[in-house]
Amino acid sequence: MGEIVFVGLGSNLGDRAHHLAEARTRLATQAGPLEASSAVYQTEPWGLADQPAFYNQVVQLATGLPPRELLAALLAIEQQMGRHRQQRWGPRLIDLDILLYANQQVALPELTVPHPQLANRRFVLVPLAQIAAEVTVPGTGQTVAQLLANCPDTLRVWPVDFA
Ligand code: ATP
Ligand code: CA
Ligand code: CA
Repeated sequence: MGEIVFVGLGSNLGDRAHHLAEARTRLATQAGPLEASSAVYQTEPWGLADQPAFYNQVVQLATGLPPRELLAALLAIEQQMGRHRQQRWGPRLIDLDILLYANQQVALPELTVPHPQLANRRFVLVPLAQIAAEVTVPGTGQTVAQLLANCPDTLRVWPVDFA
């Protein structure tokens, strides 16, 4: 039950893998259930280069929350986990973005879905394609796999080796 949504997770401060794991747990209980998770990728910072490398991941939830309530839940989890700095594109303990919400397009002052930078970010498209390659992205007429193939971003994205 619930709407299928894809959420992007990012962290580039402290124990990045731990922050992603804690966010997944909180997402599952506060916005979930969690239905799928991509691998964790290490990624070159986008937008503001002079900062530590990110860990990024994408998860699929079946949420009972409508879009703005889902956004509120994600922002609440960021706060619970101690994210204080809000510099756009700057270093952060945890960042949670709504990438896709079912087949909906949302254009509110505080929420744009699909995420407006989705097509420009390999660090999102690579993990998203791992769990949703054939999903069509509303407003683009393309699948995630096609967006990835056409993505102009050249920043590196590589799987984290936890071994
Ligand atoms: P970007 O949105 O380019 O990834 P960011 O994640 O660094 O940048 P934040 O500072 O985390 O930006 O968020 C700023 C605001 O973006 C949030 O408070 C929220 O209102 C708004 N926002 C708009 N669309 C979305 C979305 N799809 N997912 C999450 N936040 C969104
Ligand atoms: Ca973001
Ligand atoms: Ca964000």
